[in-house]
Amino acid sequence: SAELEGLRALVTGGASGIGLATARLLATRGAEVAVLDLDPRGVEMPLLGFAADVSDDASVRAAVASAASALGGLDILVNNAGIGAAGTVEDNDDEQWQRVMDVNVLGIVRTTRAALPHLRGSDHAAIVNMCSIAATAGLPQRALYSASKGAVLSLTLAMAADHVREGIRVNCVNPGTVDTPWVGRLLGAAEDPAAERAALQARQPHGRLVLPDEVAAAVAYLAGPLAGSTTGTALAVDGGMGGL
Ligand code: NAD
Repeated sequence: SAELEGLRALVTGGASGIGLATARLLATRGAEVAVLDLDPRGVEMPLLGFAADVSDDASVRAAVASAASALGGLDILVNNAGIGAAGTVEDNDDEQWQRVMDVNVLGIVRTTRAALPHLRGSDHAAIVNMCSIAATAGLPQRALYSASKGAVLSLTLAMAADHVREGIRVNCVNPGTVDTPWVGRLLGAAEDPAAERAALQARQPHGRLVLPDEVAAAVAYLAGPLAGSTTGTALAVDGGMGGL
């Protein structure tokens, strides 16, 4: 359906995985879509690619301005860019903590700050942040990643409160284990990737990994006009693993 016809969307981290699936689905539903990523050269038409690093404020401001100008404004911002980290509090040093918080949390702050003046010009403004079940599930070996996504969840609720009266909705999606290149890299590092994949699937309550398109569909719903009365929520797409 053309539910998002006439809307203009920017997806960070949109050159791979969940972000790419989301950018494609938003376009399929009728939106005009720009992707912001470290290296968006592989992104195909009709998606527009803009290079930026969400940990670099100047590059974010330049890319958001270029995207808004190419699209003629912005209605939807999907803050999806993020990086992972494994380990307990003893395994990551201060520099690793600062790096992951900088990308996963401050990346959203920077992109949102740059996008808000454009979103204020929209009649259907929506922000969707990519969070994770790690925000609430208490996963082992994910101290830093979980703390970063816990911050994304709290930030989503605070942003929703701050901007609801100016007509900007803010929600987040909490995926479980999604079959993206990210998870492919983790499996590829295992001794027996096929056995590791089977074990990972067996740990999912619904017996398989979450599909990127399933996460994209949740984002598209929260970003669209039919979610017009929904703000400050987290939508779990986790096969029953541990959502809110
Ligand atoms: P991915 O690695 O396949 O894609 C991430 C994209 O973000 C890449 O294109 C990468 O270039 C981009 N990116 C990374 N750092 C960036 C930066 N500093 N500036 C701009 N772009 C940057 O990963 P994915 O699995 O699609 O994950 C996307 C989001 O979903 C992340 O926020 C992640 O935390 C979240 N998530 C993933 C899973 C999962 O199981 N894959 C589960 C829950 C949440």
